[in-house]
Amino acid sequence: MIFAIKTSILVIVLVLFTSVGKIEAEEYKIGAIFDDVNTNQEAALQEAVNEINENDDDIDLELIVEYIRRDNPYEASRATCHLLEQGVVGILGPLSEDNSNTVQSICDLKEIPHIEVRWDDYPVNGTLINLHPYPDTLTRTYYDLIVAWGWQNFVILYENNESLQRVGEIIKLFNPRKNRIVLRQLNPVKSGGNFRPVLKEVWKSGATHFLLDCSIEILEEVLKQAQQVGLMTDKHHFIITNLDLHTIELMPYQYSETNITGMRFVDPDNKDLTEKAEKIYKQALPIFTGYRLRLLEALTFDAVKMFAEALKASEPLVKPTNISCYNDNEKLRSGTTIVNEMKNLDYTGLTGPIKFDIKGYRTSFALHVFELMEGGQTIVGHWNNSKSPPLNISRLYTSNEDQGDADIRNKTFRVEITLTEPYGMRVESMQPVYGNDQYEGFVVDIIKELSAIRGFNYTFVVREDKKNGEYENKTGKWNGIIGDLIDENADLAICDLTITKDRAEVVDFTGPFMMLGVSILYKKPTKAPPSFFSFADPFAFEVWKLLIVSWVGVSLILFALGRISPTEWENPYPCIEEPEFLVNQLDLRNCVWFITGSIMQQGSEIELKSISTRMVAGMWWFFTLLMVSSYTANLAAFLTTEKPNPHFTNLHELVENADTIGIMVGAKDGGATETFFKSKWLADENSDFGKIYNLMVKDKKKLKVIDNQDGVAAARKGYFAFFMEDKSIEYEIQRKCDLHQVGDKLDEKGYGIAMRKNSTYRNSLSTAILLMQNSGKIDEFKRKWWEERKGGGQCPSDAENGDATPLNLKGVEGVFWVTIGGTILSFFLAMFETTLYCLKKSKRFRYSFFEALKEEIKFYFRQVTHPSKVDC
Ligand code: GLU
Repeated sequence: MIFAIKTSILVIVLVLFTSVGKIEAEEYKIGAIFDDVNTNQEAALQEAVNEINENDDDIDLELIVEYIRRDNPYEASRATCHLLEQGVVGILGPLSEDNSNTVQSICDLKEIPHIEVRWDDYPVNGTLINLHPYPDTLTRTYYDLIVAWGWQNFVILYENNESLQRVGEIIKLFNPRKNRIVLRQLNPVKSGGNFRPVLKEVWKSGATHFLLDCSIEILEEVLKQAQQVGLMTDKHHFIITNLDLHTIELMPYQYSETNITGMRFVDPDNKDLTEKAEKIYKQALPIFTGYRLRLLEALTFDAVKMFAEALKASEPLVKPTNISCYNDNEKLRSGTTIVNEMKNLDYTGLTGPIKFDIKGYRTSFALHVFELMEGGQTIVGHWNNSKSPPLNISRLYTSNEDQGDADIRNKTFRVEITLTEPYGMRVESMQPVYGNDQYEGFVVDIIKELSAIRGFNYTFVVREDKKNGEYENKTGKWNGIIGDLIDENADLAICDLTITKDRAEVVDFTGPFMMLGVSILYKKPTKAPPSFFSFADPFAFEVWKLLIVSWVGVSLILFALGRISPTEWENPYPCIEEPEFLVNQLDLRNCVWFITGSIMQQGSEIELKSISTRMVAGMWWFFTLLMVSSYTANLAAFLTTEKPNPHFTNLHELVENADTIGIMVGAKDGGATETFFKSKWLADENSDFGKIYNLMVKDKKKLKVIDNQDGVAAARKGYFAFFMEDKSIEYEIQRKCDLHQVGDKLDEKGYGIAMRKNSTYRNSLSTAILLMQNSGKIDEFKRKWWEERKGGGQCPSDAENGDATPLNLKGVEGVFWVTIGGTILSFFLAMFETTLYCLKKSKRFRYSFFEALKEEIKFYFRQVTHPSKVDC
């Protein structure tokens, strides 16, 4: 009994305990108003809500979204009231000023928290909270940066009133007596997107330092056009204020030596952030590949997360109710508490630490300062106003970077090369040659020229195994030329050395002296044996079809005309003046025979008598003359050229057919090309590139390609697709006519001169390369080694070979039309002949013309012998 009581007490306690432990999550509704078609922002909002609902046991959010038009206060107030009626505890958005002001005034009245992510809206009181960093503080960051970079005079390029407002604040911080600041507008509306005239003007003025403030939508185009007018050289410096700079493609300017500085809240290389960005952008744009989070989306995400935190903190007070806009007494009451909670929170979100000052401004934040370098966007400092001084630059900037010139003059470098044609080769000479004279080639000429420009000396060191450099997981070291540079066995390295991201992390590269991409080298297709019906090849199928139609049609027409034309009817007995019947030679069989005879360029001994039939025959002969000559001419071309029969015409076809046809694939062992496929394979094994890498690994067991020459030799044997850099392919196919390049380039990269990390002479060499490019020297060397020397220009290009193509209808259309026209004309002639005949007959036998005509027509259809003569 006692045991039973004890057990029941235990059960009751347990039940009570578990029910207390399992507190239901509070449910709240939050509203969002969008007046811009911004699916990304909406996706960020949804992602934040999903994350809270999945991970937070205390709170559940239901999102209600309203869509309105921009700057439409009426719709804005209707949407706000609609959200309030549904009992929301906070509203996010909208972005346009008029709409936002309307929402804010209603939210103030109803004490609903209004969360914004706009850069320019900062009222002091009320229920508004804006997560966007405070503009005055942002202005300060740009000012600090300009001062740190030591700019005295610069040009501000701005887009519209909004950006003018921003840069206006920056100008105020400078002393007009000391600093010369010029303002120029890049107006996308007025200029229709052509900013070149303004950019050209500033280029002509000789300005070199620019503060660029424009929207992300036009930023890429502005940079592109700046490059086109010559504002992207090593002399030019840009500070770009747009905080989304890191999301656009900056690769084209990476090697221009232009100093581009930007700031960003979000670190695009942070894995967590990339994953978040991927989730957000996948919802909005399933094919988006960049996954770099923009500020608006990051702020929206942070806003919702912070709001949820504030809601939790003020939970006991929050009593969601349905509020009517028309009843002044209905308010949220606890709205101000939530906003205050939010302002007091110390929160770190996707946009870094979020803190508000007493006024509720987000004045405390941290920014990354980055510069665009050859290795990509590199962080060179931080701005954090909780630190003193806020700007901390880790890379000291010098405005004149050719200080390297002094280091390089009279210095002797060990320049490592490989003997890879045509980049570096041993001189073939009867006389003994020594030292640097032992070598010749494209890169040898480049080094000679560079040394003349920069005044340095050099000795060539040859890497016999031709390994350019690959990271070895086994040893944890770089091998090849890259390894030699790191181990200080050489000072500079130049050959077909591709600039890759991984290599650029361990050595420095100059700007590229040659651009290239990976492509496929393959044996030219063998000619297909002539087909059984190759005689038909000179004409396209449609021409043959029309030819048959014409043959049948003209035979029938001749037959019809033969019956209509009285002249074609003959007296079979010339001695009898009025025979009982007349005969006509143009029966169907003869007509077909006549037409066939002429198409075969033979006679048929049928003599035509009437004008109309002769007209048809004439047209037909003209037609056959042209058709037969065209056929003969084209046939000659077909007999002398044979059609190639390619195994594949692009990468995809190669992937599809490699196994069935038995084609092996390969690339230089440990080269940049192999690494390129490997990285693609790591990203997606099932892509075409990934599949090629799988094949490469498999085939490497049978055939290991140590250098380009091995690959070329294997390709010449057939059934081996060699992935090679297109500039090297171009060299080979000019000399080995049985090879050709299949498809286009698969990527875009460059060859550069490599040296140890942080070498002081890198900029000096890069500028010298630019000088050589501008003066056409590099092109001259390229022509010399690709086309003129070592048997270049031997093989005609595929286009020059000129395959014969069947003559299509377009080529012979005119002939058909002339024949059709002539045939129609002959019908009119037949009518004319008949009319004349009937007139004569009616006069002779004294009955009306119409009776004569009727008799004729009846005869065409019914009788074989001619009636008139019988009648008379
Ligand atoms: N240029 C390549 C490299 O730097 C070698 C040739 C290739 O991989 O196709 O490694």
